Amino acid sequence: MALADISRIEIEKAIEECDRLGRDAFLKSYGFRRARRYLLLHEGRHYDSKAIVGAAHGFLPGEGPLAPSAKGFSGGAEHAARFLERLGFSVVAEDTDGAAEETDVGEEEPEESGLTHDELLLRITHLKVNRSAGRPALYKPIVLLWAMGRALRDEARLLPWPETEEALKALLLRHATRGERLRPDYPIASLHREGIWELGDCPHPVPTAHGDARVKRWFATHEPLGGLVEPAHDLFRHSAVTRLAVIDELLGTFFEDLDPAPLLADVGLDDDVESHGPATPPGRATEQWLLTAAEYERGCRLVEERESRNQGRRHTRTTRTPIRSRAARFLVLNRCQGRCENPGCTGQPADVTDRDHPILEVDHVVDLALGGRDHPSQMVALCPNCHAVKTRGRTREALRELLIEVALERHAAGGDGGAAATGSSL
Ligand SMILES: [Zn+2]
Repeated sequence: MALADISRIEIEKAIEECDRLGRDAFLKSYGFRRARRYLLLHEGRHYDSKAIVGAAHGFLPGEGPLAPSAKGFSGGAEHAARFLERLGFSVVAEDTDGAAEETDVGEEEPEESGLTHDELLLRITHLKVNRSAGRPALYKPIVLLWAMGRALRDEARLLPWPETEEALKALLLRHATRGERLRPDYPIASLHREGIWELGDCPHPVPTAHGDARVKRWFATHEPLGGLVEPAHDLFRHSAVTRLAVIDELLGTFFEDLDPAPLLADVGLDDDVESHGPATPPGRATEQWLLTAAEYERGCRLVEERESRNQGRRHTRTTRTPIRSRAARFLVLNRCQGRCENPGCTGQPADVTDRDHPILEVDHVVDLALGGRDHPSQMVALCPNCHAVKTRGRTREALRELLIEVALERHAAGGDGGAAATGSSL
């Protein structure tokens, strides 16, 4: 067999075949079972990593597909996952139900962080979920939100270990779930392996979380300088919509019915989250009011990825009311350029809020409970008058029809709706 000969071309052929046959028929025809952990993410859809690689082998000239137990291929799904990643594909590690501990195998070097923004975000939004007493352990989102707050305030990306440890211990003490261990080394070792956290030059690799005492000792001995990998830090620093999309995802995945407000306040992200437009952190030049078309598009893509993941989740969490996307709301409030989006608006208040934002409300034109989407293409910014008419005016039905069109048009025009859409980052 010649695993190394497989290129993206063969992988894409296998993906096409899986699309054509459907997942189960595809697996059956190659003798694979559904992947329990490593899923290949391609164009928004998930595939069984090992089965795809096995099938791809059959597209090599003169070769047949690999059986799950083929010699040299039985190294587990992780092996196939790494192989796909080397070919530039994204692989996500799914939540292992009920697993209390890390399930990493072996002492691997973390991946290089020469990642595209999208890949990086994918990693951050597909963190392995470790469970503690039946609920997601919060240590990883706590570490990430802390680092995001620091990036937003333009603080140093890399910190000596003692400072990191002290800051995180305090946060874990206040915000971790009951039964969760209050040890920053544990989530940081894990984020490091996931390629999100940089640890300064150290002679030895970070031990896996399996050797529990070893991890702690390793950090105490080496006291590494550490922080978010640079592209992540930069993204968080410059892009409000990215921050909000990541916050949406972290809160949706980890917080379930917990109130994240105290944690967000503690890490200095509460203003950001409530922001009615681009945040302007103290000491930084005012950000552009408008997003570029590219940013608007990227933001929408993030919202869509969340949407598709939530659809998958809904089967198991029927009772949960979906948390509305902060990123989607942010995109609408930027797109509207501070003005009510009702074309027949007879005048919005000239006053502004204490934070200098126009007085606007974001409306889901089609009620979410009635199948509407939490997506800018079905949302509008309205002044309080128009919002009242839309909810209880006699003409509300006609207005709703009109606003459906408006939302679509505004969305299609994206962040490019204004002439001033220049110079914004990313
Ligand atoms: Zn209005």
